[in-house]
Parts: sequence; C-alpha cells; structure tokens
Amino acid sequence: MPPQRGGWLEVICGPMFSGKSEEMIRRLRRAEIAGQRVVIFKPRIDDRYDTTDVVSHAGARMRAVSVESVPELVARSAGHDVIGIDEVQFFDRAVVDAALALADSGVRVVVSGLDQDFRRLPFGVMPDLLAHAEFVDKLQAVCHRCGGTATTTQRLVDGRPAPYSGETIVVGALDSYEARCRDCHEARQGDLIVAEPLVA
Ligand code: ADP
Ligand code: MG
Ligand code: ZN
Repeated sequence: MPPQRGGWLEVICGPMFSGKSEEMIRRLRRAEIAGQRVVIFKPRIDDRYDTTDVVSHAGARMRAVSVESVPELVARSAGHDVIGIDEVQFFDRAVVDAALALADSGVRVVVSGLDQDFRRLPFGVMPDLLAHAEFVDKLQAVCHRCGGTATTTQRLVDGRPAPYSGETIVVGALDSYEARCRDCHEARQGDLIVAEPLVA
C-alpha cells in the first residue's frame, strides 16, 4: 500500500534484459490512464533506440524526455504527479537529492536502473536510491548461456569477457552485453576502478 498522502520513491532494478524499462512503461502508463500527469526522463547518453522514447528490448515504448543534467530534469518535472527516470544509474549523485526532494513535495518518483555494473559492483547512485526507497523491485532476466535466472550483466568485447580495467579496448571492437546467472558470469581480473557518472 502506498502512503495515504504525499509522494514516495520506487526503485526497479536488475541486470540488462530483465524488463526494467518494460516495467517502468507499465507503471507510468497505468498512472496516465488514471488521469495523472506523468513524464519519463532518461539520460541523453542513452540513445540506443530513440532519443525521445523509452523503448524496451521487446519493443514497448513510451514518450520520454532526454535530459543532459539533474538540474534540467528538476526544471522539467514541474507540474507532474508521477515522474519516471529510466537508466538512472547514469546520473550523478545529485539525482538522489532530486528524487527525495520530489518525493517530499508529493510526487510519485519511479526510478529504474542497473543495480550492478558489468563487474558486478554496485552501480553509482543505485545503493543510495535503494536505501531511500519505499518500494523496491529486483527483476531477473534469462541467462543467455544456460537459460537459468540471470542476475548479472556480462560485457563482451569481440565476444570475449571484457577486462575490468588495465587493458585498452580497441576502437572498433564489438562491444556487447548479455544477461548471465551467477555461475555463468565471467570476470576478467584487473584493477577495480570506480566508474565515473556519464551525466552530471
Ligand atoms: P531492461 O530495461 O531491464 O534492459 P527491457 O524492458 O528493455 O529490459 O527488455 C525486457 C525484454 O527483453 C523481455 O520482455 C524480453 O522480451 C526481452 N529479452 C531479450 N533477451 C532476454 C533475456 N535474456 N532475458 C529476458 N528477457 C529478454
Ligand atoms: Mg532498460
Ligand atoms: Zn547461466
């Protein structure tokens, strides 16, 4: 049961292909049908399919606003009852304060993102968002290798497990991702580096 009044924070997380964007679209579409004013934001960096829609791997889509920064997101969220942020792991730490301030002001905030990066380390702001959220859903995908329950994202470079760091990835190499279960996830050892946010 959601709080009686005011806003709250929901987190949808899991590996790639687990249906995070699909679930985001489902929740916001329902709110829209209920007559609420909804908007989905996504970082401008994520232009895999479209710059103005959130598109799931299965083809579900909904209009979205690409933003360059957290201040832009906050400015454009005025006048909405429900705010979705897809691929939230690509924003910097300011997105945590922004999400909490919006929730405090009465907005329902739904964020979705990768809980772990391809090295299986907690991804950027996700631990903070998970800790602050009223509602958390962790989704699973189907392991590309064994068909089991995938909870991790495997990065491949030219079909081989990507190095964690310390090796230069050749320009033009084919970068791809798979959902994998814990057993099938392949690490290539190297110095662990902390990923910098891509969108400030
Ligand atoms: P996410 O946003 O978590 O990356 P999407 O919502 O974009 O996920 O896509 C989920 C959809 O991707 C599923 O409904 C399914 O149709 C498709 N899909 C492709 N590969 C897989 C996989 N290995 N496991 C689960 N779903 C997959
Ligand atoms: Mg997605
Ligand atoms: Zn597996």
